Amino acid sequence: ITSFAGKRVAVFGLGGSGLATAEALLVGGARVVAWDDGEVGRANASARGVPILDLRTADWSGLSALVLSPGVPLTHPAPHWTVPLAKAAGVEIIGDIELFCRERAKRPVAPGAAETTGAAGPLAPLVAITGTNGKSTTTALVAHILRRAGWDVQMGGNIGTAVLSLEPPAPNRVYVIECSSYQIDLAPSLAPTVGVLLNITPDHLDRHGTMENYAAIKARLVETAETAVVGVDDEYGLAVYGRLYDMKRRVRAISVASRVAGGIFYHPPHLVRQVQLDASGSIAAEHLLDLTGIGSLRGAHNAQNAAAAFVACSALGVPHDKIADGMRSFPGLPHRMEQVGRIGPVLFVNDSKATNADAAEKALTSFDTIYWILGGKPKDGGIVPLAPHFPRIAQAYLIGAATEEFAATLDGKVPYARCGTLERAIAAAAEDAARSEAEEPVVLLSPACASFDQFPNFEVRGDRFRDLVLALPGLAPFPR
Ligand code: ADP
Repeated sequence: ITSFAGKRVAVFGLGGSGLATAEALLVGGARVVAWDDGEVGRANASARGVPILDLRTADWSGLSALVLSPGVPLTHPAPHWTVPLAKAAGVEIIGDIELFCRERAKRPVAPGAAETTGAAGPLAPLVAITGTNGKSTTTALVAHILRRAGWDVQMGGNIGTAVLSLEPPAPNRVYVIECSSYQIDLAPSLAPTVGVLLNITPDHLDRHGTMENYAAIKARLVETAETAVVGVDDEYGLAVYGRLYDMKRRVRAISVASRVAGGIFYHPPHLVRQVQLDASGSIAAEHLLDLTGIGSLRGAHNAQNAAAAFVACSALGVPHDKIADGMRSFPGLPHRMEQVGRIGPVLFVNDSKATNADAAEKALTSFDTIYWILGGKPKDGGIVPLAPHFPRIAQAYLIGAATEEFAATLDGKVPYARCGTLERAIAAAAEDAARSEAEEPVVLLSPACASFDQFPNFEVRGDRFRDLVLALPGLAPFPR
């Protein structure tokens, strides 16, 4: 990236994206100074040739920008110490997505347009996706559909690859980027071809102060988009939609709760679009896709993600049958209601990402006969809020530190076994589920707990579940 060629730039935070930023700036001829409060980050960067300098002692007057890693607090609970230093010196504070956007703007991909000259021409299409929940799923789904439809898809941002490690613009190339609110906040030039705002619910207020501030940051992603796709099932999304509609912007609503005009909604089991039949205003519902049997998109929350992906891909010109085809072949994301395999009618599902009751609730509402493996390091409130879903649980298998607390909650309502380890829980659940007469018994790991009492993180826990399930006799695996 050449935006800062010859200039001095500070990079703070040397995890994956910070390191990619420092390296991309160096390749583009910037004079980089980088720092991380942690020694490991500094050592890693230094080993890769990134100049390290304690920014507390740097001469800020000579700096053109401070590039912050996502998640470094700008305001709440207190700004990181680099922030007041940059502000006092009048140094702009940006994130890696901002650098990515500036670079994209300089590289039109029209045939014949000179690269890097700033010549006018169409830019590589950019789909940017945000929301409180469902970002990664929707990003991966959009990327999958576009790939199947023949695009050269570069996916990254808050998911997987750092944006500055993606390939540069080229014909037939499309970017699909997941954005957290931190990243949007630090990307004033973000103006996607299609912007998706899935939902806004209270979360991360620790970092953004008020709900209004948090919502305003997320709204910016769709306000700057050529086509905005907005979930209208919460009051904040609805307000954003109304505002854009009044401004006569290209905006499409998505909903899983009501029939919205001019967008796509979920009327189980179909994704549906209202179409105007004639000038008199008579309308009909067009069934776009039957979600029944698409295992990776079970549940109303996934219908919201699917509706958003449908509208986003449609806005890029992908024909409806190709979008439907992409949805049907979507494998889903690891650890998020991931279908691992089947033994006869028994389905094994890895939802290790569900580290609290809220997330586990999504899985519990998505299946009818559940052999539920749960436990770990419990969170405040435990599984008490999940009681409405207990009738669908055939048996519970408790593991880890939460065992006694959860046993007390389940007592008298759901049969349970104290299993201790994941190994024993899987063995017992598989045996019980095999005897079930239900149409589709589901062995579900959806722990409603952090993993740290028994595993380094939820990924390791989910991978362990997966490996153990794959080793069960007679298991027919799904591709990951
Ligand atoms: P994010 O990237 O925003 O954290 P993910 O796609 O990784 O979201 O999904 C994380 C969890 O959030 C899922 O396991 C599911 O429980 C829940 N979830 C997914 N999509 C939605 C949605 N549209 N609305 C509410 N919850 C969702």
